[in-house]
Amino acid sequence: MKKQHEKIKVKSTIVEIDGDEMTRIMWKMVKEKLLFPYLDMKLEYYDLGLKKRDETDDKITVDAANAIKKHGVGVKCATITPNKDRIKEYNLKKEWPSPNGTIRAILDGTVFRSPILADNIPPSVRNWKKPIHIGRHAYGDVYKNQEIRVPGPGKGELRFTPADGGQPISLTIQDFKGPGVLQGIHNTDKSISSFAKACFTYALDQKVPLWFATKDTISKTYDARFRQIFHEEFEKNWKKKYEDAGIEYFFTLIDDAVARVMKSEGGFLWACKNYDGDVLSDMLGSAYGSLAMMTSVLVSPDGFFEYEAAHGTVQKHYYKYLKGEKTSSNPMALIFAWTGALKKRGELDKTPEVVDFAHKLEQASIETVEAGIMTGDLMKVATPSQKNKQVYTEEFIDAIADKLKKKL
Ligand code: NAP
Ligand code: MG
Repeated sequence: MKKQHEKIKVKSTIVEIDGDEMTRIMWKMVKEKLLFPYLDMKLEYYDLGLKKRDETDDKITVDAANAIKKHGVGVKCATITPNKDRIKEYNLKKEWPSPNGTIRAILDGTVFRSPILADNIPPSVRNWKKPIHIGRHAYGDVYKNQEIRVPGPGKGELRFTPADGGQPISLTIQDFKGPGVLQGIHNTDKSISSFAKACFTYALDQKVPLWFATKDTISKTYDARFRQIFHEEFEKNWKKKYEDAGIEYFFTLIDDAVARVMKSEGGFLWACKNYDGDVLSDMLGSAYGSLAMMTSVLVSPDGFFEYEAAHGTVQKHYYKYLKGEKTSSNPMALIFAWTGALKKRGELDKTPEVVDFAHKLEQASIETVEAGIMTGDLMKVATPSQKNKQVYTEEFIDAIADKLKKKL
């Protein structure tokens, strides 16, 4: 075991982005009990707690994103996306946009989610033995659409007018005989291409195969463009690297992909178009046991990484905490956000001892759960359930700290 003064040095800066409510409370405990005693870190701290965002007219969010661009690696706590209720609760100047949306727009990234697996938290799908990572394209399609409620008979059209004064392209979508609905969606080669690059990068990073699926048998231009861009990107920039790493790029139809995922043992990255990713990531999250067992990383095509938990600020638990009650909130995904950032930092800095520490902290966390010491969310799904003990957040973190200490 190392003595207190022999802390492991993390060479380069990590951008630390603090957040709100229960996750803010857990964030502090994780740092104080699991990281600071063992690591000598240079952290550049940005407080994205809602009050601070309001005070700075949200400039702090932009600064945090730019800091990730500068240093390459960031770790973020969950943050409140304000709505009308929050404006009242925090007496806000305005309804500030989602910090994750702002950061994503600046880093131009793709979000990848991965479950944390423990032996006694079995996934609902019993043949899933390894994590299924999911990558969601976070631009365009139905999320940036235009819609018309068609009031009665008439012609619904799709029209493109070239900026250079060329001939417009016009198609009839439907000759309506009566009322209905009409929708227009789009995507861009640039965005699809950075999505593809991010997915190829992440799968290679994790040394897992990449699956991608569209419905290009039906959507012969729109979905086909996604397929083409992925194919071209693979042939041009990744084929050799994938061969060397012993992993494959696999394309199939989305319905075939869904069927295969259910029969698979996991262990791949599933790249999803925007809507597919929205729906399927929630399905995967719940199938793997708890929201708090899902980590998330934003990977930019320029090689910047931001790690976080997939869940929110756990508001309901925070209100209990404010009343002085102890809560059994689960810090696993927050811990894994830190280990993700540390592993990436160590890899970029070529400091294997930092990567090794992060692995040990992950092992200590999983072993704690596997020893039957767990938070309430996991108690509900753990098998076998008899011997398990539900603990408060702080007790859970202390149990992890005990295991970690023995590994160092
Ligand atoms: P949430 O914070 O994810 O929590 C939803 C429910 O899931 C909780 O009430 C709790 O269920 C369970 N849960 C989530 N994380 C847990 C954990 N670590 N340990 C134990 N249980 C956990 O979602 P929300 O309540 O809808 O959103 C709260 C705030 O988070 C909102 O202001 C939203 O804007 C923000 N948010 C932020 C992010 C982000 O920063 N990435 C993402 C999503 C939401 P029980 O109550 O049944 O115990
Ligand atoms: Mg969703």
